[in-house]
Amino acid sequence: MTRPPPNYWLRRKGAGGQAPRRADFPAGTNLCLHCPAKCCHYIALHIDTPSTWDEFDTVRWFLLHEHTAVFVDGGTWYLMVYTTCRELRPDGLCGIYPTRPKICRDYSMEECEFEEGSVYDQLFEVPQQVEEYAEALLGPRPAESSAGVNGVTLPVLPAPLPIANNGSPRRPHRSGSASPRLSGAP
Ligand code: SF4
Ligand code: SF4
Repeated sequence: MTRPPPNYWLRRKGAGGQAPRRADFPAGTNLCLHCPAKCCHYIALHIDTPSTWDEFDTVRWFLLHEHTAVFVDGGTWYLMVYTTCRELRPDGLCGIYPTRPKICRDYSMEECEFEEGSVYDQLFEVPQQVEEYAEALLGPRPAESSAGVNGVTLPVLPAPLPIANNGSPRRPHRSGSASPRLSGAP
């Protein structure tokens, strides 16, 4: 039986090594064999650009859920959900490589987040960030926008955190992309 190719990143990580950089490898190297399958651990979906308090409140609702973030890339807003693909194998390779979705087949290793060296236009990771952003854009939130269905005012939010602009890690959005990870199947 043929053994699957090893994932060197996982092996190095297990040994306490540092994540490698693109420059560490000769041209043509399959970086997926040196990567913890970063692009198989989230999904990202286009969302409408919010422009009213109600729309920003929907974005805030997204962020009230665990394992979510909202980012803006090239003027387009995305909801990101950090979740691991069911088909990602423990060795870091794709378990359904021959039949992986088109979104995975189309993803370019040359433009992927192997190094996470670039940035988002904006990144919101907690509700307070989008609340502060909306207030800067629209002014104070109207009273009716902060009332619940029973007229109950929402809890006062703690002090807002800074919005990450041009300094946060960026991943190419997954609304149209995924991983070309190799199958290790015999
Ligand atoms: S395509 Fe995905 S698995 Fe392959 S190197 Fe890039 S981020 Fe890692
Ligand atoms: S390449 Fe696609 S199908 Fe395969 S493990 Fe990654 S996200 Fe899942």
